[in-house]
Amino acid sequence: MDEDNDGGSVLKEPMFRDFRKISPRMFWLVTLASLVVLLVVVAVPQLLSKNARMQVLRSHVAEIAQIAASVVDGDLHRQLLDPANYTPELYERTVAPLVRFHSAAPEIFYVYTMMERGGKSVFVVDTAASSDLKTSRKLRPSAYMEPFETIDVDPDPDYLQRIAAGETYVYPKFQRDVYGTFLSGHTPIYDSQGRYSGFVGVDFDIKYYLDQESSFHAIFYGSMVGAVLIALLIGYLVARYHYHVQDRIEEQYRISIRDELTQLLNRRGALRFSREALEARASSYAVILVDIDDLKGINDIYGHAAGDEFIVKVADTIRHSVREKDICARMGGDEFLIFATGCDLDAATEIARRILGKVFAQDDHAGRSHFGVSIGICVAPGAEANFEMLYRQADEALYKAKSAGRNRFVIFDPVIAATG
Ligand code: GH3
Ligand code: MG
Repeated sequence: MDEDNDGGSVLKEPMFRDFRKISPRMFWLVTLASLVVLLVVVAVPQLLSKNARMQVLRSHVAEIAQIAASVVDGDLHRQLLDPANYTPELYERTVAPLVRFHSAAPEIFYVYTMMERGGKSVFVVDTAASSDLKTSRKLRPSAYMEPFETIDVDPDPDYLQRIAAGETYVYPKFQRDVYGTFLSGHTPIYDSQGRYSGFVGVDFDIKYYLDQESSFHAIFYGSMVGAVLIALLIGYLVARYHYHVQDRIEEQYRISIRDELTQLLNRRGALRFSREALEARASSYAVILVDIDDLKGINDIYGHAAGDEFIVKVADTIRHSVREKDICARMGGDEFLIFATGCDLDAATEIARRILGKVFAQDDHAGRSHFGVSIGICVAPGAEANFEMLYRQADEALYKAKSAGRNRFVIFDPVIAATG
């Protein structure tokens, strides 16, 4: 028999396996859930603010275009709208204020004027054509009356009418063409009589935007990393707490199914694990009930503590007289139950004999010996076994063992039971 039997198969239950400090499943579950929430909380405002920053840039381009338009001499520009009036001198005089303006604001990419011709925009003057322009950029000048070809971003179809009507028009997003990648703003030019006379264009290089965006990128990626770290921390803390709570529940459960004095299963534990064992439908089952003989007398003579001590001794004897998988329980008072799976009559009888022999050989603390227990045995084939029936019949046999003089075992006999 196994010396390490601790009262039944209960310790093999998954509930009692060695719990890790945190549950990895709970950790990853909570981490992922927190991460989704945090990323939404972090990313959505970031994306919205990215759009807002684009709108701020568009407003800035519009303001710069309006200032550029204010420096142009509308009367000179009006003359240049007619190619018949073109002279290099007129071109120079018209572009000169814009060149000064552009030289003073180097963050602007291109500064030019345009007019509508046959439903399309054509260039009039371009600061890049002037040798007076002070810029570190390598610009590609547009020629007088050169048509403007959009490449990948079409402006609104009515944008020329809207500019002619007095609106400052900024493209919805960056466009790319042979001149580079830029955002354009257009503002109407008026002559001294208030007549619409073409429009100014200013282009902002995408580099200007990206430089401004780079600090926001750092904030964005920093927030993302922060969200991941916070999610990991939340996952860890919740998994730790979950482990702690689970551990407490397991501990409470362990206590609730154990007898405190003997550390065997109590009645609740015995019922639960016996019924579970019955579900396995083994070939046979045995219930062995053990009741201490005259414990009341032991209590009376030696005191209640000595009675307790004897109960523990009997419990240890039972524990060490059965197989590891057998269920041992203290059902209450001085009554013990053994529920043995796959145990036939011979094996059950052997267990009973062993217990009787060991108990009888024991001394009490005062040196007295020859104590006894009475045992009732009931064995049933697996298909017929049910716990209540086995327990009742073992109890009948136990009663007979007591009546027959104690310190013995009796096997439940269905024939005698049937005839009464
Ligand atoms: P019997 O041979 O007929 O079994 O006699 P008994 O004195 O053992 O009587 P019974 O089994 O009917 O009752 C058990 C007695 O054991 C009753 C009570 O005085 C005593 N007892 C019950 N629980 C405890 C306990 O936890 N500690 C101690 N010391 N005694 C107990
Ligand atoms: Mg008794």
